[in-house]
Amino acid sequence: MENVLRIGISDMTEMSEINELGINENLNLRYCSDIIYTYTGSILIAVNPYKPINIFNKEYVKKYHGCNFGVLEPHVFALAEAAYKSIVDDQVNQSCVISGESGAGKTETTKLILQYLCSITSNVSSWVQQQILEANTILEAFGNAKTIRNDNSSRFGKFMQVCFDEINCIKGCIIQDYLLEKSRITFQSDGERNYHVMYQLVAHGQTNQQMAEDLHLRAPEYFKYLNTSNTEKIDINFESAKFDALTMAFTVLQLQQYSIDGVFKILSSILWLGNIAFEDIDGEGCDFSPADHEAIVIISKLLGLKCSDLQKVLLVRQINVRGNITEIPLKLQEAIENRHAMAKALYSKTFTWLVTKINICTNPGQDGSNFLGVLDIFGFENFTKNSFEQLCINYTNEKLHKFFNHYVFALEQSIYMEEEILFTHVEFTDNSQCLEIIEKPPRCVFKILTEQCHMPKGSDSAYLNNMHSEFEFHPNYIKGSDRRHWESEFGIKHYAGCVIYTVDGFVEKNRDVQQDVLFDYMSRSEDAFVKDLSQYQF
Ligand code: ADP
Ligand code: MG
Repeated sequence: MENVLRIGISDMTEMSEINELGINENLNLRYCSDIIYTYTGSILIAVNPYKPINIFNKEYVKKYHGCNFGVLEPHVFALAEAAYKSIVDDQVNQSCVISGESGAGKTETTKLILQYLCSITSNVSSWVQQQILEANTILEAFGNAKTIRNDNSSRFGKFMQVCFDEINCIKGCIIQDYLLEKSRITFQSDGERNYHVMYQLVAHGQTNQQMAEDLHLRAPEYFKYLNTSNTEKIDINFESAKFDALTMAFTVLQLQQYSIDGVFKILSSILWLGNIAFEDIDGEGCDFSPADHEAIVIISKLLGLKCSDLQKVLLVRQINVRGNITEIPLKLQEAIENRHAMAKALYSKTFTWLVTKINICTNPGQDGSNFLGVLDIFGFENFTKNSFEQLCINYTNEKLHKFFNHYVFALEQSIYMEEEILFTHVEFTDNSQCLEIIEKPPRCVFKILTEQCHMPKGSDSAYLNNMHSEFEFHPNYIKGSDRRHWESEFGIKHYAGCVIYTVDGFVEKNRDVQQDVLFDYMSRSEDAFVKDLSQYQF
């Protein structure tokens, strides 16, 4: 017999009355005894312990494997087991949807599910399993960063489909990525960092002189994009060890050496791009400052471009008028922004390239195999200052919430009614109205933004004015946090709370200027990887 101390209620559907206070008290009671998992029917609620708890070892895997859901204490392994069992017994594909605010523990939970699946199918195909686990190392290095909420916050969403063969062993995995936060490459708020890989690379350069020379790396403080002033000092040994783990993961995923070198060259060139200062000439065009010349030479070397070509993409915009190319000098601010856009485009292209490469390596090939999908997207965010990225993230969570409501409550209730089972109607917060204001054409937050982006002189303030007049009386719309901020903010009443968005930068971010000219030059690069990357169609 199981000898578990029963604390609180392990399945909250058994509570005599379900309300917020009761739920919180129950979760708290269990949490205080280090019991982080609780069920509500087939939903698993996890409370982040923020400390190691010894319930994920081999003993636990053994205990939960083969055991029916609900028999043992709530655990993420029980959930993974139930999903796996459905695939084995019923040949039905399954998905685990993990949701929660930033820092709640979604990504750790995803990893635990993967580890469990790998452990229970471990006697065969262990190479594939190692590749799947190492894929995470790469994705975390390139897609995670320190935020004020979470030192290892995923700044992209992912859906991992773990595929099984006829004897129900893991035979591969397909990863779909969503919405990498590009703005982080060029700007980080106080106390936040750029993507981990940037620090890992630069730190490793501090310990490996040859690499530092080849890639033109400097001390972390040297690079503006690394925001070293406001964050604690970089731990060179820690980051460097992470870099070793990353290169090991690259090897496990069979990336060729020239590609690995190429990826690092791109990263270094991004860092150097951030250091270009530009100087205004006569308010019309701009030029490099004397100190910029080193950066220009180095970036062109790293990307295998001619110096003159690179200078051109950095200083002028080419416009194609009926087949005639006209060059217009960029004004100072435009050149600064254009350079940031280049850095972001290079990074996001590299990220997508990596995901594609991982998939080529781990993809099981034939279609039609059974899979267990795990969705780990960023959680709801509400910071002191929220921008376009937060709107996109919160919109995604809003969609997920609707999906959750639909499947968990609405479908369940309709089954009850069909089978004429007596039940008390469960009220749930329907968020359709909030979704409509964000996404429903013809007039919605996104549509009005697109309109503004299509206008030659589109601006954030015009966007905000249009929104204010369109939605003034909409129940989910808030016209700024108070009277003073009407000209710079709007708010949305989300299911998880009100969020005030600062409109500054929305139009620019949504335009996401294509770097066609840069990629065109890159396609003629002397560097084989840079050439490949530029021609990669996603
Ligand atoms: P999210 O993906 O929801 O933003 P993470 O999964 O990255 O959050 O978790 C944030 C941090 O919380 C982790 O870096 C880890 O320190 C801690 N954490 C999360 N889950 C667990 C767990 N099961 N046990 C111990 N610590 C955890
Ligand atoms: Mg995460």
